[in-house]
Amino acid sequence: MSLNAENGMTERQYPDPLIIPRAEHPVSRQSIDREALKVLYRLRDAGHTAYLVGGGVRDIYLGKTPKDFDISTDAHPGELRKLFKNSRIIGRRFRLVQVFFRGGKIVEVSTFRCSSEYDLNGNGNGNGEEQVEDQVLASNNTFGTPAEDAFRRDLTINALFYEVENFSVIDYVGGVEDLKNRIIRIVGDPERRIIRDPVRMMRAIRHAARSDFTIEAQTWEAIKRHRDKLSVCPDSRIRDEFFKDLRGGASSPWARLAVDSGLFFVLFPFYEPCLTDPDAGEERRTRLFNLLAVVDRLHGEEGQLPEEMLFAVLLLPWAWAEMGIQGDVPPKGQDAFALSRRLRAALDDNLASLNIKRATREAVAGLLVNLPAFTVCAGNGNFPKWLQRKSYFQAVGQLHAMAQEAGGGAPAAEVVVEEKKGGDAPPARSSRKRSASRRASRQPAFAKGGIFGLKK
Ligand code: ATP
Ligand code: MG
Repeated sequence: MSLNAENGMTERQYPDPLIIPRAEHPVSRQSIDREALKVLYRLRDAGHTAYLVGGGVRDIYLGKTPKDFDISTDAHPGELRKLFKNSRIIGRRFRLVQVFFRGGKIVEVSTFRCSSEYDLNGNGNGNGEEQVEDQVLASNNTFGTPAEDAFRRDLTINALFYEVENFSVIDYVGGVEDLKNRIIRIVGDPERRIIRDPVRMMRAIRHAARSDFTIEAQTWEAIKRHRDKLSVCPDSRIRDEFFKDLRGGASSPWARLAVDSGLFFVLFPFYEPCLTDPDAGEERRTRLFNLLAVVDRLHGEEGQLPEEMLFAVLLLPWAWAEMGIQGDVPPKGQDAFALSRRLRAALDDNLASLNIKRATREAVAGLLVNLPAFTVCAGNGNFPKWLQRKSYFQAVGQLHAMAQEAGGGAPAAEVVVEEKKGGDAPPARSSRKRSASRRASRQPAFAKGGIFGLKK
């Protein structure tokens, strides 16, 4: 009888799973990718146990379209390679098999595990994705049973299995109940699971924000208690997780939860005095959440805002409060130069831990420094030629438009850039008021590529 290092349970302690028959759950084969089904059937026909796992089952259960379909099985990587000719093994410690299909589709198949890659490396240094295609690896004893595989997962709603023998959902951890009650709960003892891999705090908050679920009390308390431990994780991993949050279409509810739990201030310690100020904190927090709601709306409609724009928006309430970039009289000459220097130095310090490229930091500073002049000109309805000619003109116009919308003003579409005859740089001006229905039906100019191209 072995002791599972991660959750402290012995094999005998694993409970029997709840088996939910097809008639009692909404996961239909129609919602599952054809290629993923092919892999599941091939494994079944070869006598293996194989389940659709993780986010795929969760999303179908919630009526959403999954991003990817992952499969777990009792077949070992070598056996998988034999079964699927067009496949390769990736991952150093936890070998994962990618099965390739026509049209570039890839289905990832992993062998049931007894621990997560991040737990084994102590503090989340795991890099399971590293490619070792033809390397011969010593056999490891990290493969596990379906129960162990379920218990090493992060959240109960991410630990459900779906099988194609009887089309039932298999639930070892109470995930179905949590899906029904809209609850985010870390599998097992949240303290222990967070200490083993602090990134799970970010994942809990992400899924709560994305699905508008409530974080269960013990998980929430554990996040608040252990939030500082996030800083022991490698920067690159935190950065990846953070961008998923910023770009996932739910950055505003994410920021609310991250601020409430304090996780936001582990990511951005410099922001804490600004957002927790007894007098102005609440208003600044509201501004931040409203700004991110504009980001979410735009991300929901079209591609993605570039990184520098995301950071400029995210940092705007801080820059307004602490960098003095707000006011009716934009800084000029020496003052503008000094502001720019201060801002650049602050960004260099504050964004270092997120591995933000120097060029991006420079671009963020440029956007924030030039916003006041743009705002004043937009107020006057008059943009001087020197401003129009600046390379950053359109981008600052975009930031201005987003700030206006977040402040309860017209939607970002209200700043319109038109081509000026004679080849001059395009002027921007506030357009006249529009009726509510017309406004609602309009896409922001930049979302159509008008002001600022979105990356697909
Ligand atoms: P998304 O829709 O963002 O892809 P997802 O839940 O599928 O959400 P992935 O990052 O693709 O997220 O991870 C796949 C699965 O692996 C998760 O559903 C979860 O079961 C498991 N997992 C991911 N990260 C961890 C972790 N840090 N600890 C434990 N299990 C994890
Ligand atoms: Mg996924």
